[in-house]
This record gives sequence, structure tokens and C-alpha cells, in this order.
Amino acid sequence: MSVILRFAPSPTGRLHIGNLRTALFNWLFAMREGGHFVLRFDDTDRQRSTRENADRIEKDLAWIGIEPHRIARQSERLALYDAAAAKLKAAGLLYPCYETPDELDRKRKRLAARGLPPVYGREALKLLPGERRALEEAGRKPHWRFLLPNFTLDPFAPARTDIAFDDMIRGPTAIDLASLSDPVLIREDGSYLYTLPSVVDDAEMGVTHVIRGDDHVTNTAVQAAIFEALGASVPRFGHHNLLTTIGGDGLSKRSGALSLETLREEGYEPMALASLAVLVGTAGAIEPMADLSALGARLDFSAVSASASKFDPAELDRLNREIVHTLPYAAVAGRLADMGVAETDGEAFWQAVRANCDRVPDARVFAEIVFGDPVVPPPADAAEAAFRAAALRLLPDGETGPETFREWTTAIRTETGAKGKALFLPLRRAITGLDHGPELGPLLPLIGRERLLRRLG
Ligand code: GLU
Repeated sequence: MSVILRFAPSPTGRLHIGNLRTALFNWLFAMREGGHFVLRFDDTDRQRSTRENADRIEKDLAWIGIEPHRIARQSERLALYDAAAAKLKAAGLLYPCYETPDELDRKRKRLAARGLPPVYGREALKLLPGERRALEEAGRKPHWRFLLPNFTLDPFAPARTDIAFDDMIRGPTAIDLASLSDPVLIREDGSYLYTLPSVVDDAEMGVTHVIRGDDHVTNTAVQAAIFEALGASVPRFGHHNLLTTIGGDGLSKRSGALSLETLREEGYEPMALASLAVLVGTAGAIEPMADLSALGARLDFSAVSASASKFDPAELDRLNREIVHTLPYAAVAGRLADMGVAETDGEAFWQAVRANCDRVPDARVFAEIVFGDPVVPPPADAAEAAFRAAALRLLPDGETGPETFREWTTAIRTETGAKGKALFLPLRRAITGLDHGPELGPLLPLIGRERLLRRLG
């Protein structure tokens, strides 16, 4: 049987590198196994989900190279959830509750004061039909809880009930259902929390493996019980460690700075992000991978650390730099054209500057230096002015070519005696206006004689 995986973001904000980790663990596993990948938008929270966010998530994933076989939106699948809810209600497994958030809070505080865990006591299950009616007539709307199977006969006497599963990443895991409150599946306004729709969809879509953050381990136990209650088979689950900021805070979909969208706009390479998202927080070395299939070959669930890992922007910079230094021209042709670099010069220009770029957009400043006019050289003192005059005089005749730089610097050295830094630095300053930058030799044919003369003059 072929595998089916899914990535199920709630479209309530931008994707960040932590979300990308989840998406890629699923995508790479699906690809490696020759399976299918579903992008499912968990958008039942009508207040916070938007179509615009969903579209942006799709665009971010496409930029990385993730192409879902199927896209689904929970907001379009409500009839399926209604049917599942009806089935659970009919079986007495989904019951109406009328407590307000304040009342629930008071209940929790009373339990805490007695040193007890804040587990819901199923008080609503004791309500008689008449009491329910009275509450509803008084304007109370129910929310609905799933009755966890953590008791033998008496729901008010829960007993230890371990849900054990072999986690694809963490290994054997067990959660005691008696330590949990019956989860709310339907809100007061009739909308679904993510718990039930996720199970219904996973079952209906034939999802075989669910890989997600380890903040969902407890949900897995609850959802496994719901799968069983609906008569569906439980997929395999894997929970990976989460990424935090360098300061140890959780990454938030709403913290724009580390969003994929921002990083893309800042000129990072998709493979730098993908490599880091998958390899950080594992026992393996964090290296830039050439493409997603090479990265997929590095996917090793047994190497994923148990604890949270820090996302270090300096690490991303390092990976990006390493990738950019070897990027072929074909990979940047479009972006260089956008900077105004003519196609005829593109290959030579890129070969000349890429070692000096941390990100592709860094090439813009070199494009301006090479093809723009005028470069304003920094002011020269008398000695530097004399040097520039000599350089101007000694520029070899004719259009600049691959040999120009060697011939020219030999002539300047012979006449002025300048060598090493004393030769190259003033020349670089005159030609580029900068103290550092790409090797000058390959730039001269691109700059051309005309522009050189103007800069030296
Ligand atoms: N929408 C859920 C989330 O973003 C999905 C969790 C899951 O993968 O089941 O956390």
C-alpha cells in the first residue's frame, strides 16, 4: 500500500521555518516512499482563517518545491464533520455542556486548591433532559465534549487507560486518557475545533502517516480514541521536536520576521531554508543540500533530537552563502535580468561576483558598479591621484579583455614600483569605489574601456 501524508496548517498567519520542518518531514517521506501528499487547510476557525493566508501558504510551499497532489479546505467539508458528529452523538460519545469559560475556570481553581489535576469532572453528563432544556431556554448554547474511553462502566470513575503507540520519531509512547479532560469538539457557535475534522479528514483521505510537532502528542491519544469511536483505522503518528528562536521562544505564525515570505523577499535560497528546516535539531551535520531529493535521502527520524532546537539565523546565512557561491548562472538568470544585467554579460558577471555574495540580491550593488555610471571613487590624496593618473596612462590600448588586467597591472608595477596591496587597493578604489569586492580581472571586460577611462579620469 502506498503512503498518504498531509500537511495541515491553519491559515491564520504566515508559515515560518518551524512549519516548514513539519511540511518537509511529511513531503520528503511521502516522496521517498513514492506516496501522495495532501495540503489541507484547517480553516474551521472562521474568525482567524483567511483565504489570503491560505494562498500565501501555497505560494511559500511552491517556492520550496512542495507540490501537493491534492489541496483540501475544511471549510468546504463541513457536511462530513456533521455526519461524524451525529454518529458520535447517537452513540452517546458527544455530549452537550453549558459551562461558561468563567465557570470552568472556577472549577479548575477549586481542583488546584485541593491539589488535584485540572481535569473536567463531566458534570454536564449528569444533567437531566429538563435541566438542559431550562439552560437552553435561559439562552445558554451548548459546546460539545467527546467522552474519552477512560472508564469501564462509570464515567465518573475514570481509571488509568494508556493509549500506546509506536511513534515514528520518538519510539514507544503512552498517554493516560484518565489524565485528560474530555475534549471540546464543537464550540458554542456550532463551529468545529480542529480535533474532530482532522480525524474525519485523515480517515476519509486515507492518510497513513501523520508527522507533526511534539506539541500534538496528547492530541494524538485523544484523536486515536476518536478514530476508534468512528470505526476508522488509526494512522501511524510521528512527533518531531519544535524549533524555537535563538532566545528560546516559540516561533509564532504571527511573528513576521522569520516567515518564509519575509526570508524569500530578503533573497534567501529555498534550499538553504529547506536544508536547515530538516537538518537542524538532528544528530546529523547541517549542510546545504543540492535539492529536495538529496535532502530526502538525509531524512532520518532516528536522528531527530528529543528536545527543542534553536533556529539560528546565522546558520541560515552560512548555508545560504555556501549555496550562492556555487549557484549556476541558470539558477539566477531571471533575478540578474531584473537587476538590469544584460543576458550577454550574465554568465561572466555571475561567475565574477558570486563568491562575494551572501545572497543573490547582493549582486545588485556589483551590477551597478560594473554596468552603471558613474562610480564615484573615494577622494584621493596626492599620492593616490598620481597613481590614478599613471594607471589611466598605462591602460592597454583597445577594448578590455581577459588579459587586460594582467597586462595593465604589470605595466603599472614596472613604472611605479607599487605591488601587492599598494597596487591593487588604489586601483580597486578608482574602478569600483569600494575597498573590497570581487576580483578585478574578470570584471574589466564587463566594465569596458569607456567606463574605465571615465572612472580614472
Ligand atoms: N492545524 C493543525 C496545526 O496547525 C494541524 C495539526 C496536525 O497536523 O494534525 O497545528
